Amino acid sequence: MSSSSKSPADVNMISGANAVSGVKVKKIASVAAQCVACGVCAKACPLGAISAAGGHSAAVISDKCVGCGRCAAACPAGVISMIPRPAPSPSDGGPTVSSAPAAGPASSQAADVPHSAPAAGGSHSGSAAGSADRPAAGGSHSGSAAGSADRSAAGSADRPAAASLKSTATSSGPACPSARGAGKRWYDYLWIASALYLTLGFFNILFAWLGLICFLVPLLLAIFGGGKVYCHKYCGRGQLFSLLGGKLRLSAGRPAPAWLRSRWFRYGFLAFFMTMFANMLYTTWLVFSGARTMHQIVTLLWTFKLPWNWVSVAGVAPWAAQFAFGFYSVMLTSTVLGLITMALFRPRSWCVYCPMGTMTQEICRLKNRGGRR
Ligand code: SF4
Ligand code: SF4
Repeated sequence: MSSSSKSPADVNMISGANAVSGVKVKKIASVAAQCVACGVCAKACPLGAISAAGGHSAAVISDKCVGCGRCAAACPAGVISMIPRPAPSPSDGGPTVSSAPAAGPASSQAADVPHSAPAAGGSHSGSAAGSADRPAAGGSHSGSAAGSADRSAAGSADRPAAASLKSTATSSGPACPSARGAGKRWYDYLWIASALYLTLGFFNILFAWLGLICFLVPLLLAIFGGGKVYCHKYCGRGQLFSLLGGKLRLSAGRPAPAWLRSRWFRYGFLAFFMTMFANMLYTTWLVFSGARTMHQIVTLLWTFKLPWNWVSVAGVAPWAAQFAFGFYSVMLTSTVLGLITMALFRPRSWCVYCPMGTMTQEICRLKNRGGRR
């Protein structure tokens, strides 16, 4: 099979001697269709062998992967499995697989890799070139790793969780030869902004309006070609969960249960969330139109009404304050839910059902399908 005629599954699963380490590995990572493209795996992988930069699904660059299992240990959705590295195909000059491995529905994930992606060949850096999911190619593995934007947060707070599977990783393949060691960037500190946002809301509810940034920026980035870069780099709340659950070890480190990562829950939660959001906008409209008076209440988990009476809204249009109370309720509730699932499961389990993550992934899927036509 020529490289240009390889199926997407082949592109994803092409294997052989690891081009980075030069060692034969027995297993490589494989991503199932339920991937939410959160990008946690990309941060956990020390070799840049997996990326979710396209925003629709993660993709493994199998000739970089050494089967260490760190990505699988970090994945909040638990959709990465370690599968036997396919045997070499003599006709190809390199190993391929022609069907999805038994370990998981990797073919559906791989289907998101564009057909135009050149197949792996002599150089690992070109193995998935052309794919939106492709980490930045580079001549040497250290150079390519440091150069990838999606991998710039190496040493992520999710790594401690990954360490819990170290023994599994080493039993299934060689340990990753080195950490990427990329330095911290300004956006790695956005968790401070998230923490500050929630704190400021206690003192002045009008700060809640700033939360619109977390709604509009991810959508705009996804619409205008940035994929899920917001989730991967700029989500301060996600960073906060990584920090608390990973570095501070407040997370149980279990993968999210099947019901939490099921499509019905994910899309059901999105529908519920949007309904609550629409209700908040309606309430704001009622106050704006004078049909009702402002309620100085923050609602936690859409149920518990917390009086917020110490907040001064003097001199502020009642509808503007009402929106702030409603929006702060949404932000506080989603943070509390994220903290609960962080504690019970893996640090960024919130990413599995985050409504913004679901919406941006759908946008990326639609754009990816459109790009193939
Ligand atoms: S769900 Fe997230 S961590 Fe898991 S494979 Fe997909 S992008 Fe990677
Ligand atoms: S973390 Fe390890 S197993 Fe996962 S993609 Fe990277 S090299 Fe492969």
